[in-house]
Amino acid sequence: MAGIYIHIPYCKSKCTYCDFYSTPQVETMEQYVHSLLYEAKLRQEEIPHQFNTLYLGGGTPSVMPLELMSQLINGLKSTFDLSHVEEFTIEVNPDDVTQEYIAALMQLGVNRVSMGVQSFNDGELRAINRRHTAQQAIDAVSAINDVGISNISIDLIYGLPGQSLESWRHNVEQAIDLDVQHISAYCLSYEHGTRLWVMREKGKVQEASDELCIAMHNQLTWMLKQTGFEHYEISNFALPGYRSLHNSNYWNYTPYLGLGAAAHSFDGTTRRYNPSSIKKYINALNNNRTAYTEEHPYWFERLDEEVMLRLRTSDGLDLDIIANRYGDQAANALFCKAQQFINQGLLKMNNSTLALTPQGVMMSDNIIRELMWD
Ligand code: SF4
Repeated sequence: MAGIYIHIPYCKSKCTYCDFYSTPQVETMEQYVHSLLYEAKLRQEEIPHQFNTLYLGGGTPSVMPLELMSQLINGLKSTFDLSHVEEFTIEVNPDDVTQEYIAALMQLGVNRVSMGVQSFNDGELRAINRRHTAQQAIDAVSAINDVGISNISIDLIYGLPGQSLESWRHNVEQAIDLDVQHISAYCLSYEHGTRLWVMREKGKVQEASDELCIAMHNQLTWMLKQTGFEHYEISNFALPGYRSLHNSNYWNYTPYLGLGAAAHSFDGTTRRYNPSSIKKYINALNNNRTAYTEEHPYWFERLDEEVMLRLRTSDGLDLDIIANRYGDQAANALFCKAQQFINQGLLKMNNSTLALTPQGVMMSDNIIRELMWD
């Protein structure tokens, strides 16, 4: 199985922490959808697998008017065989959600909604220039539920400027009260080139300490586990039966086709990167050619990436799979390097599968670095 990712690089405004490619200039959107559908046609044979997931991400896909969205989705349906798609996700922002919009998306086949909430505290939302209030997020979840979509994911961020442990606990309580099926939670990171980075350099915001972020992460995992969520990837939690299939495909190193400006693809051996420029992307397709550049990672680069992705999941890293793909030498080397962490209680080994322990999760970056081949 494989996944299709469609990138919609439009946002009404820029959140201070965001380093994703997006633009508020929506006047190119119609042309962009034409280019996307043309790219889909040119690349429809690239991944020789059945697709089980379709994901519209951004940017903010929900800024796209319904008529154009319907053209896009119907165009994809006429290009690809989507009869095996089990999960069709769209990312939305709370301020775009109306019952009419979600009902129309559902008619088009969407069965999962992922919403960027980030915080249920209006002061914290303003501090990162989110364009919605906490109440709008709460109302949006209820509108999505009312329409009949029962697979809802929300994103939260902890370690926000000025956020206390107490405030974070309220955020998690509110998320639990909404009865959503999936929660992704990330520690705020300061990326070079973002407004947040500049604000920190000028002393206008202070970065949360590592200790506070660890305490917030621990509180989150404890509260969600009490509520029945499975902590199935370092930053992701799901009620039983609601793990994200699309993201699990990435973590299981399954091929995916990414279409649109700034989208990436991976067919099992080759990576393809579309330019982070709507103009360059549209120009290439107007000239009847694809826009991507290719990279052919060495086998050990793929091995390192697979180790990193699989170890982040609770399913862990099966050394039999590694031996099949990269040879016994690679699997044996991993096993030897893992011993010290097993002895320290940071990794556990179950049959042929290595996985992080709860203590290991807090040190995952260091452990994964030590397990790298390169
Ligand atoms: S809505 Fe999402 S993609 Fe758009 S600026 Fe904010 S974080 Fe970035």
